[in-house]
Amino acid sequence: MARHILKIALDVPLDRLFDYLDGGLAAQVGQRVVVPFGRRKQVGIVVDIVDKSDVPEAKLKAILQTFVDEPLLDKEAFALLRFCADYYQYPYGQALLAALPTRLRQTEPAISRKQHVYSLTDLGRAQEIEAIPARKAVQRRVFSALRKNEQLSESALAELSGGWRKAMQAMLENGWAQASELLAGLNNTHKPDLVQLELNQDQVRALQAILKDTQKFKPWLLHGITGSGKTEVYIRLIQAVLAQNDDQVLVLVPEINLTPQLEARFRSRLPDFPLVALHSSLSESERLHNWRLAQSGQAKIVIGTRLAVFAPMPNLRLVIADEEHDGSYKQQDGMRYHARDVALMRAKHRDIPILLGSATPALETWHNALTDKYNLLKLADRAVAKAVLPSIRYIDVSKGGTHDGLSPILVEAMRERLAKGEQSLLFINRRGYAPVLLCSACNWIAPCSRCSSRLVVHLKQGRLCCHHCGHEEKIPRQCPSCGNPDLHPTGHGTQRLEQLLAALLPEARILRVDRDSTRRKDALTDMLATVHADEVDILVGTQMLAKGHDFPNLTLVGVIDTDSALFSPDFRAAERLFAQLMQVAGRAGRADKAGEVLIQTAFPDHALFNALRVQDYAAFSEALLSERKITQFPPYAFMALLRAEANDFALVQRFLKFAADSAREIVAEMGSHVMVYDPVRPQMERLKGMERGHLLMQADSRQAVQVLLRNWVPGLRGNALGAKVRWAVDVDPLEF
Ligand code: ADP
Ligand code: ZN
Ligand code: ZN
Repeated sequence: MARHILKIALDVPLDRLFDYLDGGLAAQVGQRVVVPFGRRKQVGIVVDIVDKSDVPEAKLKAILQTFVDEPLLDKEAFALLRFCADYYQYPYGQALLAALPTRLRQTEPAISRKQHVYSLTDLGRAQEIEAIPARKAVQRRVFSALRKNEQLSESALAELSGGWRKAMQAMLENGWAQASELLAGLNNTHKPDLVQLELNQDQVRALQAILKDTQKFKPWLLHGITGSGKTEVYIRLIQAVLAQNDDQVLVLVPEINLTPQLEARFRSRLPDFPLVALHSSLSESERLHNWRLAQSGQAKIVIGTRLAVFAPMPNLRLVIADEEHDGSYKQQDGMRYHARDVALMRAKHRDIPILLGSATPALETWHNALTDKYNLLKLADRAVAKAVLPSIRYIDVSKGGTHDGLSPILVEAMRERLAKGEQSLLFINRRGYAPVLLCSACNWIAPCSRCSSRLVVHLKQGRLCCHHCGHEEKIPRQCPSCGNPDLHPTGHGTQRLEQLLAALLPEARILRVDRDSTRRKDALTDMLATVHADEVDILVGTQMLAKGHDFPNLTLVGVIDTDSALFSPDFRAAERLFAQLMQVAGRAGRADKAGEVLIQTAFPDHALFNALRVQDYAAFSEALLSERKITQFPPYAFMALLRAEANDFALVQRFLKFAADSAREIVAEMGSHVMVYDPVRPQMERLKGMERGHLLMQADSRQAVQVLLRNWVPGLRGNALGAKVRWAVDVDPLEF
């Protein structure tokens, strides 16, 4: 009998495939189909075609539809997602479908409508905005946006105004603007930048080492501080690899707000190679479009955030993961994968090299480099000869001496920069505390009613907000606990600092950059432009400012409120703080001006600060590694965390108890060495109204954890309590 049973992956929370008859539709492996499922229709992917089913054939239903014009998913995608589903304990069908652009998860044909990008013509560039009548506000807005950007996509324009099409039509008609079809490479209106920097010795060595053998799996770690020329190495590497063959390169970056800059740099430096971006701020149709260009092999370079790690690339020859230590590579819901680790796995499957780059590698990565699992390449100095490392000084605030959290030394240093016409950056660790509302009589602090967290004061809006669940309320006029009307914000948030500085340095132009002030899509880009244009004297911001941005006139970085991370119960807090401080320090003195970093702390002699002073990542990580070895934390241990939450904590407790008992049984049966801890409440006991609990398991081998999970998780899925409790398994968890 001919093979006619289709094994289909569906987006349902069961870790199995579903059997269907092909109903004469001649479906193929890798094809998208529509099937009846319960009373609904669902999209599925044909994973296999076989001749027998365990279900009596009379009971099988037939698929309803195939999408014949769409390219098929390839074997590599199946293998990679199968691996991830197993490793991260997530249903295969859900993993497979979640890796697709939304449009491909819908039961309609996914036609990728042609997309266009728009730019000004020479005629348009020669115009002044006054030439457009003031009443044509949309057209003015579109025009000035086009002047600022070399090109704008449809989604960027839609973001500007719902009526952009009409305005654009007018500008196309009078010859000011032009449209080009968004096709990889053809949409590159960036001016090619053909300067050929002469690589320094370290860069040459790194490049040659990697290029020596690009025909097999080889993990490389490129370690060099910010500004040491890592990106330049990526560019040369891509150039060399793509010049040889009709290959493709995947470049992963941690955060969306870094992609546009890197994208622009790659486009101008690599003008010959079609490039597409893949990240979540693209519109659905752009994402589908770019994904298809990757799938067809037309896009030679794909640059994207973590979800891009699953982009189909038939000719993939090299993977680069920039800032590999960054926590945003880890997906925090659904399948909780780590994109850097998935990238490593993908490179291994394909037998190609992968390059990880960082100034402060994750300890796991560093450990792999020290034990020769990865090949270590170092860039020792800053690439631009004149750029020197900033000097780092600590301001001891253990005996007080600060006013509203700012020490006079720091304020004086900012005043000096202001007088010299140089810029300063005042950095607050996001994990440090934001201003809370405190009652001076009874010490009541405004709590969130849904989370075990404190509400943050947003003075401008007159509201209290929870940064964990989004809950908001009005600032009360008196203390709900004792009736005292004297409630005041305590602690330093960005808004409060901004106000404080405005009072201390009234002549300074201050710009606050945080999640609130950058909510609008292009807000950050616009703000950064004002910094570059020297329209800002002092930047106040959170970690958004720590990364990647290059401000030549910025010579002072002040850091406040880091101490809580020094003594955090989270064993990764010190590692993160060090990485973050190295990164902010890297903002000071990038060009030819020497930079200075001032850090306020009550613990100036802490080992972390000593290592930071000399920017000695290697020494600091050595100390951290020996600590981790003694305390048996990663990379010397492998962890999995069961997260559970419900409205009623008793349910969580019962579920976790069952989970712990059954895990221990399995461990005992197998005689394996996995430690199953007692269930605990996480630091954030309640979140969004849900009561939470954790169960941690750990072992000294990855394999042991995996074997336990494989035998244990199916039992959790089958448990009746499990249906009432929201739970998820987090393999290699980063947050606790
Ligand atoms: P990283 O990615 O490590 O932060 P970049 O590659 O961005 O470093 O380099 C930092 C700066 O130094 C950039 O402005 C870059 O153009 C410049 N640069 C890099 N390599 C060289 C080189 N060999 N000679 C001169 N300038 C260089
Ligand atoms: Zn009170
Ligand atoms: Zn809350």
